[in-house]
Amino acid sequence: MRLVFGPVPSRRLGTSLGINNIPYKFCTYSCIYCQLGLTRNKIINRRAFYDPEEIAKEVASVISSNVKVDYISFVPDGEPTLDINLGKAITTIKRRITKIPVAILTNASLLWREDVRLDLSYADLVSIKVDSVIDSIWRKINRPHVDLKLDEVLSGIKAFAMEFKGTLISETMLVRKVNVRKENLEEIASYLKEIGVKKAFLLIPTRPPAEKWVLPPHYEDMYKAYVIFKDILGEERVELLSKPERPDFQIVGSPEEYIVKTVEVHPMRYEHAIQALSRRVRNPEQLIMKLIEEGKVKLIRYAGTTFLIRPER
Ligand code: SF4
Repeated sequence: MRLVFGPVPSRRLGTSLGINNIPYKFCTYSCIYCQLGLTRNKIINRRAFYDPEEIAKEVASVISSNVKVDYISFVPDGEPTLDINLGKAITTIKRRITKIPVAILTNASLLWREDVRLDLSYADLVSIKVDSVIDSIWRKINRPHVDLKLDEVLSGIKAFAMEFKGTLISETMLVRKVNVRKENLEEIASYLKEIGVKKAFLLIPTRPPAEKWVLPPHYEDMYKAYVIFKDILGEERVELLSKPERPDFQIVGSPEEYIVKTVEVHPMRYEHAIQALSRRVRNPEQLIMKLIEEGKVKLIRYAGTTFLIRPER
């Protein structure tokens, strides 16, 4: 299994079977809080990375083992819309493999492109990233490719929101001293109201970030953000995700491969890995030590918790 990982628990999507349709850190942004580390290939030109048939075949293989999956999610090692075959991959899965809904988590920076909007229109749920609608803050937190322009990004998102027939949600990462000022939060919430997102999720960094100095906001700033969003969007359209995901990882196939593939796109709490492995192997600690010795994962501490992360970071 090269391109599909999980199923993994997701705070927004229930149980998600992940598709990794982008090689490590090809992205249009290099967010300061990125859990994958610094962007190595900051590009905005779309290209072909993997064969959509191979993606569909791997999805079919996991689905056939009758595991519970709420969403097939494109949540790769970079920005999913950089994949020029994204639309083809979605339609192949939906027409030939399964009726399970397809979700895409995108930073939305390429939605000014008509072909990207068309590809995303095949999905059932699209989550867009909006950390700021103020240029200086956008540059500081998302560190976009030099050729991206915030006004084009925002109007692209607006155009997509008007056309899209599926569920549109948003995520806003709150970072201490970076994007938690009242004016920034009010402007984001007003923009999200204008484009009509079904739900706006407020997140805080809970996994090791690209920049060591990145911290979650103070509690009062988190609460202030929630209240501002609630007042502008309405309570039922805002959710604050300040806790880590549930630990119910279901290992499918080889336990070793499951851990390595999951950690490639998703730092995993050490205790969650042990818990999941203990249902499948006799000595989970020993298996993790072996993966560390083989250079397939490494351990890191963040916010008082030990995580397994990919070794290149
Ligand atoms: S958080 Fe997402 S958009 Fe930001 S750098 Fe990482 S992969 Fe790219």
